[in-house]
Amino acid sequence: MQLDSNATPIRIELPFRPDSVNVYLFRQPEPVLIDAGYNSTACWDALVAGLAEQHLTPADLKHVVITHPHIDHYGLAARIARESDAKVWIAHGAMHVMRLTNPQWGHRLAYYHDVLLPGMGLPDDMIERFAANVNRTALHSEPVADECLFGFGEGDVFHWGGVTWQTLHTPGHDSQQMCFYQPETRQLISGDMLLAKAPTPVVDAPNAGEPRKPSLPAFMQSLDRLEAMDIDVVYPGHGELFWQHRQVIQAQRERILNRKEECYQHVKNGINTVAGLLKVMYAYLPLEHGMVGLWMLLGYLDLLRAEERVCETIVERAGGIGAVWHYTVC
Ligand SMILES: [Zn+2]
Repeated sequence: MQLDSNATPIRIELPFRPDSVNVYLFRQPEPVLIDAGYNSTACWDALVAGLAEQHLTPADLKHVVITHPHIDHYGLAARIARESDAKVWIAHGAMHVMRLTNPQWGHRLAYYHDVLLPGMGLPDDMIERFAANVNRTALHSEPVADECLFGFGEGDVFHWGGVTWQTLHTPGHDSQQMCFYQPETRQLISGDMLLAKAPTPVVDAPNAGEPRKPSLPAFMQSLDRLEAMDIDVVYPGHGELFWQHRQVIQAQRERILNRKEECYQHVKNGINTVAGLLKVMYAYLPLEHGMVGLWMLLGYLDLLRAEERVCETIVERAGGIGAVWHYTVC
């Protein structure tokens, strides 16, 4: 049998930005799906239609492998597992997300609502709006049955399309983000680590008693790692396939470093909260997409703090819950 080592993309439209997500299908020697799309009827229908074009149904899938535990990538995994014998695979460190029922999303929501968004210096009404957005997303989370759920990690190998794929742990967009690399054909399935457009360093809710893990510094290290690799084609989590991975990485790095310096100048000029920086650096973003700006700004500040150019102090929040993080030049 002639094996086709290339993955077939299936694009699934999303009801929110970035408008669509890619899942990838390997048909041989057994059907494997990389990522699963968002949990909605429309996304399910799109997945079923995409599989039908390859003469498959969800019941034919043997494995569903999730690149990272974000809802647009794992949402339909539970339903696929219910309607097939498929095993669902995700990074060891993200298995708990796949087990979360809606009420258990509470830990993440509580962190955003009580710590992260107040810490950024947002007013109450914006905290409520952003938290409501996260909450709406959480309502679409369906847990994967334990007996279907399997973990993997850095260095593990998979056999898809008749060739061997290596697992790379590339934190940054998510602390549990994984990429898959096929060395002979130099293909990279990048999840949201490497997109043609810069992805966002999303902040995870830390475990109880642990500090927040800075996302953008980790992302920069992951960029360095991928830049050094010989890659011909990138299969991203969103958007079209692309070929010039080093050009993409260099452009992203340059933009991040430029924006970081811009951020530094604003802090130097006395703008000392993330919310204040959002107004001057992301004024072009509509409020409902403002979370993207918040992640980036927190990332620039994390980079500047790592360079010991900016210091953070914690200030009591007048009349509200939580505390505000204030930034000044060291
Ligand atoms: Zn995504």
